[in-house]
Amino acid sequence: PDQHLDVTTFISSQPHRGKTAFVDAVTDRRLGFSELWLGVKRVAARLYSLGVRKGDVVVILSPNSILYPVVSLSVMSLGAVITTANPISTSGEISKQLEDSLPVLAFTTCQLVSKLAAAAAAAAVSAASEANLPVVLMDGDDGVKAHEKGVKIVGSLETMMESEPSESRAKQRVNQDDTAALLYSSGTTGKSKGVMITHRNLIALAHTYRLRFGLEQRTVCTIPMCHVFSFGGFATSYIALGWTTVVLPKFEMSKLLSAVEVHRPTHLTLVPPMVVGMVNGAKEINSKYDVSSLHTVVAGGAPLSREVIEKFVRNYPNVKVLQGYGLTETTAIVATMFTKEETERFGSSGLLSPNVEAKIVDPETGRLLGVGQTGELWLRSPTVMKGYYKNEEATAATIDSDGWLKTGDLCYIDSEGFVFVVDRLKELIKCNGYQVAPAELEALLLAHPEIDDAAVIPIPDEKAGQYPMAYIVRKAGSNLSESEIMGFVAKQVSRYKKIRKVVFLGSIPKNPSGKILRRELKKLTTSKL
Ligand code: ATP
Repeated sequence: PDQHLDVTTFISSQPHRGKTAFVDAVTDRRLGFSELWLGVKRVAARLYSLGVRKGDVVVILSPNSILYPVVSLSVMSLGAVITTANPISTSGEISKQLEDSLPVLAFTTCQLVSKLAAAAAAAAVSAASEANLPVVLMDGDDGVKAHEKGVKIVGSLETMMESEPSESRAKQRVNQDDTAALLYSSGTTGKSKGVMITHRNLIALAHTYRLRFGLEQRTVCTIPMCHVFSFGGFATSYIALGWTTVVLPKFEMSKLLSAVEVHRPTHLTLVPPMVVGMVNGAKEINSKYDVSSLHTVVAGGAPLSREVIEKFVRNYPNVKVLQGYGLTETTAIVATMFTKEETERFGSSGLLSPNVEAKIVDPETGRLLGVGQTGELWLRSPTVMKGYYKNEEATAATIDSDGWLKTGDLCYIDSEGFVFVVDRLKELIKCNGYQVAPAELEALLLAHPEIDDAAVIPIPDEKAGQYPMAYIVRKAGSNLSESEIMGFVAKQVSRYKKIRKVVFLGSIPKNPSGKILRRELKKLTTSKL
């Protein structure tokens, strides 16, 4: 492979002329592949004249938009680095990201400019920088003036896309191992970390998706493009594969279903809570909307329960629902289900992608474990990140000298190569010297007909160290009691895994991709103890 290939050149080498790349679901504005590439070329030229150079970081804070990929591809084509900020993050959280990544320029929308300004002003204070962050508005015109401290409007994306570049720029050589994107992990288990994704990582991901899902699908983008799962698909790989993507600014079930009916996509990429929504509303959905164009739904980011998969298969018999497993550190998906039969192999997150090597290691002794044995999953693949940004210590603790990435997930792999995620190592409960996986107890609880949702966390105990307790959401009308729940679990598990306390809640706190926010539950527990 060419060492000097950047991801934008790679993606544009398949130009798919005459086809539509993106459709705005709200305005119906369309962006053809030719228009997309012309836009990318012009924006890159304009960014160069604004002083953006190889290695510089550019931040994008925007809801999903058909112009999101134009921005990110332009930045990456210069060898500069795109970092994506989440529009639902607070200005304090964005501020931390700005301080960490130190961007030279930002893209945002009229609605989000105040949030960005507040974040930039706060970051400037602690980063001791006097300068305002230059901002390009993605939806305003050049006449918009910023009155906010912290930012300075330097142009509009529309103008950049329309004007012919006046000066030619020196081509800077981009190596495949240069960083293309700086994506921040979800921060479920601690501080969100800046993950350096290289051009090689994104090119390899496009190859994986080509093998897994094929060319020229139609899809709807509803998960935020700032997240690796969406960025790696909609904003990069799917463009390489000539897919047409209908873009919704944010998730709303009725809007997603209307888009499915009107645009007739074949493929959806969702997160588990959206799949749950499709399952719970299945009767109404099937009678109100025509979803017959769909043949594949991929769900990733958190586990899908057996109950949800079974119900999905029953309610949408013509749609394959496939689990995808991955981390920001692996440029999204490294394992997926492939066929409907595989999906019915409940509990598995699928087969490893063809370019991924895996081993299971005993987290305590470092010993290699065998087929069916549970330990930490280590991965080596061209999609494994370069490292954490400006954090050599964390990088060295995560990637060993042979390039193996320690996922922090407790998994086993069966004799046919299917990966089963048991739990996250950091979330294990240590009870009397035994380790208890909350996910195992949650799966048992969810199988109870009167339980709607459940989360298990450790509760400190002088003698045992910790023991498991459960937060439970009962189905409407249920009077299930604490002792009934504890008895239900006790009948099915060894003594040390018994649940010792139950608290009822109206809902379990989760992040947008469906991961349980255990630290919030822990806070709740501490305040109650
Ligand atoms: P942080 O590392 O900052 O705490 P995070 O790990 O939640 O955040 P992500 O990179 O978005 O950030 O999430 C990756 C993790 O999500 C995986 O390590 C795994 O624990 C979980 N995960 C993803 N897909 C699945 C799946 N299909 N089944 C089970 N767990 C999954």
